[in-house]
Amino acid sequence: MNANKRLFGPGRWHTHCSLRTSTGGQSAGTALLCRKLPTATLVDGRRAISLKSLFTPSPPQDVALGAASKKQRILVDSNSLFHRLSKSPIKEMREKSLLIQDHGSCATCVDKTAAKGKVATREPTFECPNCGYPTHCSEEHWAQDRGHHEELCGQLREANEDEHDLRSGRTLREFEFPSAQLAEVVVNFSSWDSFLYTRSFTNITSDRAMRHVSKVLTYPVTMGAVLHQYSPFTLSAGLTPEGLKSMTALRTTIKEHDLARSDKELAMRQTPLRVFVLGARAEAMLPPHLYLQLAYLLPNSPIHVCFIGPEAIPAVDEMRSTIVVSSRLVLKYHKSYFHDAIWNFAPFDPFTDVFFMFSPGIGHPKARDGWHPTVEKLLETKCAVFATGFHEQDMQTDVRVLKKDFGDKMDWLLMPQKNPFGSLKRDFGIRNLREWAISNWGIYGFRGKRYEVQRK
Ligand SMILES: [Zn+2]
Ligand SMILES: [Zn+2]
Repeated sequence: MNANKRLFGPGRWHTHCSLRTSTGGQSAGTALLCRKLPTATLVDGRRAISLKSLFTPSPPQDVALGAASKKQRILVDSNSLFHRLSKSPIKEMREKSLLIQDHGSCATCVDKTAAKGKVATREPTFECPNCGYPTHCSEEHWAQDRGHHEELCGQLREANEDEHDLRSGRTLREFEFPSAQLAEVVVNFSSWDSFLYTRSFTNITSDRAMRHVSKVLTYPVTMGAVLHQYSPFTLSAGLTPEGLKSMTALRTTIKEHDLARSDKELAMRQTPLRVFVLGARAEAMLPPHLYLQLAYLLPNSPIHVCFIGPEAIPAVDEMRSTIVVSSRLVLKYHKSYFHDAIWNFAPFDPFTDVFFMFSPGIGHPKARDGWHPTVEKLLETKCAVFATGFHEQDMQTDVRVLKKDFGDKMDWLLMPQKNPFGSLKRDFGIRNLREWAISNWGIYGFRGKRYEVQRK
């Protein structure tokens, strides 16, 4: 791990394209579109294709129209998804292989040279026959890497098959999501399984489909799981007494929205729930309709989701800065740092406003300074803030820095823990396949301290 750090330096993962840059979450113009990397065009191409193709639901009448009129081109047979990357029928996968060979490292080379004190690696041109990734510089170094064969290889194989499946050309029915929840069915937030079942995601019929869907749904469902009255984050599961106060405030507003349905006076003066997403990148680029899954969880609440950050831009073909998704759901995009844009949104109210930061990387050395003024302003709002991390270490690094820089100014609302609604998919680093990331793997919450007035 240390050796790899020295090789590639600190950085952070790109949620979708599996690249790691040397800059942090809020640094302008980097992560999402990988603009600063020479490999940007390849990666951009992959992103655009994967996002666009994933969310174009197939009309049900397709079947009736008959096979002849369907222009579906199957590139990969669903029964044999595994292909060596360099021999893949999918162009993007072949490009990925080249990318790894150009920018990646051989784990055995790294291990051997690290022991001598100076890390060096040859290009990983040897493709593992079991996972299909170019993992090592030679068959000899591949055979010597026990760590690869014991654990990593199986995970890479799964990623290989998943990526081929997504781009196979088959109709991705699992991305056709259910609409509003039946009033008599209670949503169960104990796990992905029970959530998807109680929300009637009937098109998800395999673990693979569940992995695909979890990678995008992790954003709206994590928000919903925090806000919902049946949240899995309870006092017995890491919520602090201060956290309960904050959540009670927000749920009071949600309850008022419910009551407003039958109370005209309440309906007249109800204020929307404002969900701020700071340092937004991939989550801002998701198709707007995906956030309806949050709205369905709070069916009577008007919700404004505000994506703020230097990379907060909507989906590729969207030019608008405000998108009205439904009568109750509005998405807003503000391409700026929160601490610069704050006056567009002030004043803040802990009863209606909540903040999310998805894998912000607050603790990464190059991002820390960038996040500092934002966190300072966040604490002043006294609103609840929830943040996630890519894995245990990523989350704990952020938590450590928050404690060090702001410890005396903040209260913990939710103790750091694994998020039941993290993505089920593992993304691997192009530069180092041993490094992986899972979107929203862990979650924690905090808020600016409320100082009680003290008697003299
Ligand atoms: Zn080697
Ligand atoms: Zn392998």
